[in-house]
This record gives sequence, C-alpha cells and structure tokens, in this order.
Amino acid sequence: HAKDSGRNTYRFYTDKMNIDAMERLRMRNGLAEALLKQQFVLHYQPQFDLNTLQLVGIEALVRWNHPERGLLLPDKFIPIAEQTGQIVPIGEWVISEACRQAKAWQQQGYAPVRVGVNLSALHFKRGDIIKMITGLAEQHDLDPQYIELELTEAIMLQEVDYILDIMQKFRTLHFTLSIDDFGTGYSSLAFLKRFRVDKLKIDGSFIRNLEVDSHDLAIVRSIIQLAKGFEMRTIAEGVETQGQLEILRREGCQEGQGYYFCYPLPAGQLSRHLHSATAQR
Ligand code: C2E
Ligand code: MG
Ligand code: MG
Ligand code: MG
Repeated sequence: HAKDSGRNTYRFYTDKMNIDAMERLRMRNGLAEALLKQQFVLHYQPQFDLNTLQLVGIEALVRWNHPERGLLLPDKFIPIAEQTGQIVPIGEWVISEACRQAKAWQQQGYAPVRVGVNLSALHFKRGDIIKMITGLAEQHDLDPQYIELELTEAIMLQEVDYILDIMQKFRTLHFTLSIDDFGTGYSSLAFLKRFRVDKLKIDGSFIRNLEVDSHDLAIVRSIIQLAKGFEMRTIAEGVETQGQLEILRREGCQEGQGYYFCYPLPAGQLSRHLHSATAQR
C-alpha cells in the first residue's frame, strides 16, 4: 500500500511539475513574442488631490493584449515575468511608452502632468537603471519632473548603500520617488530615515475596509502621521467610496486614486480628466 500511494504521489508530483514547467515555458515564449509584436498596452489611472479634486498625476499600468486570451491584467503575467527576468525589458517598454504618451499629451495642448511607472526590484539588479531611465526621458524629450518612479519595499532587501546611492541620484535629477503598496512589504523605518522618498502610496488593502475596521484606520492614520514627520506626501490607492474619501481627507491624506474617481483607462479616454495648458486652473 505504502508503495502504491508513494508511486501515486510521485506520479502526481511529476505531472504537476511538468504542467508547471510547460506552462512557464509557454508563458516565457508568449512574453518574448509579446515584446517583439508589441502586444503590451498601457492603461492610465488618474490621481487626485483629495481637497481640491484637481488632477495631480497619472499612473501607467501595463496590460497584455493576448492574441487568444484577450486583455490580461498584470497579476496574470508579471509574477512570471519577474521569475524569468523578462520584467526588465517589459519595464523598459513601459517607461518608454509612458514617456512617449506624457509628451504626446503635452504636444496636444494639455498641461504637463506627472506620469507614474512601476519598477521591479530586478531593475535595480540588472544594468544601469539610471542610464536606462534618463536615456528614455531624453529620447522622448520629457522633463524628469514629470516622471514618478514607484518602488516597492522589495528593493530594500538588496544592498542598502547601493539602493540609497541610486535613489539619491534620481532625486538629484528631479524624478519623483514613491514607495508603492506601502505597509505590505518589508518596510524598514530605518530605511525611510536614511533616505526619504517624496511619497508613500498607502496600499489599497488598508483602504478597503477603512470605514468599518478600526485597525485599518489605525494603520492608515500612522502612515499619514509618519509621512508628515518626514515631510513626505501620502496617496491612498483603491479609494472606492465617498466614505473612504472623507476619512482620508479628515486624516490628512493629500491624494487618492481608485475606482471612486476613475478606472484605469486607455490614453485616448483620459482627455476629460486632463486640463488645457492655457485654461485657468
Ligand atoms: P499597483 O501599482 O499597486 O497598482 C494599483 C492596482 O490597483 C492596479 O491594478 C489598479 O487597476 C488597481 N486599482 C485601482 N483602483 C482600484 C480600486 O478602487 N479598487 C481596487 N480593488 N483596485 C484598484 P492592476 O492594473 O491590475 O495592477 C496590479 C499590479 O501590477 C500593480 O499594483 C503593480 O504592482 C503591477 N504592475 C502594473 N503595471 C506594472 C508595470 O508596468 N511594471 C511592473 N513591474 N508592475 C506593474
Ligand atoms: Mg503602482
Ligand atoms: Mg500601488
Ligand atoms: Mg497595490
């Protein structure tokens, strides 16, 4: 019996491994093809000042226009792209496309707006990230003040002095730096003390039940107070209700993004949120 079940377990296990390996290989090939055939697209989600409701920025979010499976959200392919390292060229495409679009909006007569891009921790490991990003900004003739780099707490697992050095250089070049999904990762308060970013993005998981969960409120309040002490701004992600907006405003969070304001949209559908460069604001 033991032998049988052992064999079954073994069989089951190898089958599962084969499927995983096959699926991974399929995804890797698919992602390589997607890069070649330009199957990635960016959707853009506006960010607003919670008091004035003015547009303050736009986050670029990648999607994969898959030939068979339709429009895929990042959770379907970013984790694998992280594993295979393909997140590096994908991210490079994202930054390039976001710069091109930000410049195009300016050329269409809209007031310049800052566009945020999501970086992977791998970007800090591979190649010269500063050269890559400044190169793309120059290529599209976009001033770095209109580019926000969203970092995750995962980068803090890397060699701290190296990361601090890169972040310092980005700041000297006037890029905006923010920490994405703040509070969910390996937040090190010592790290924040050594190097301040411009903005903390409060993760949507703390916002979802903000109206009913006193612990979420305590976390959100602490992040906002911490940011104040460090002279950083805060933006809440995943704002879906008027009630959440009012609590965030009351607690002193400056900015927000979420379905309550606007879904991520293709660039062409964003114009109603953009301001004319000449209009009174
Ligand atoms: P994120 O950077 O934290 O982006 C916010 C996510 O929340 C987006 O999901 C957005 O569509 C979603 N969202 C916005 N408003 C709401 C809301 O009111 N309620 C809820 N429930 N969700 C909301 P999306 O587009 O599926 O992206 C998921 C994650 O994938 C992003 O989280 C980011 O970590 C990653 N990602 C997206 N684009 C890129 C990219 O170009 N490069 C890298 N490395 N990662 C990316
Ligand atoms: Mg983000
Ligand atoms: Mg985020
Ligand atoms: Mg998030």
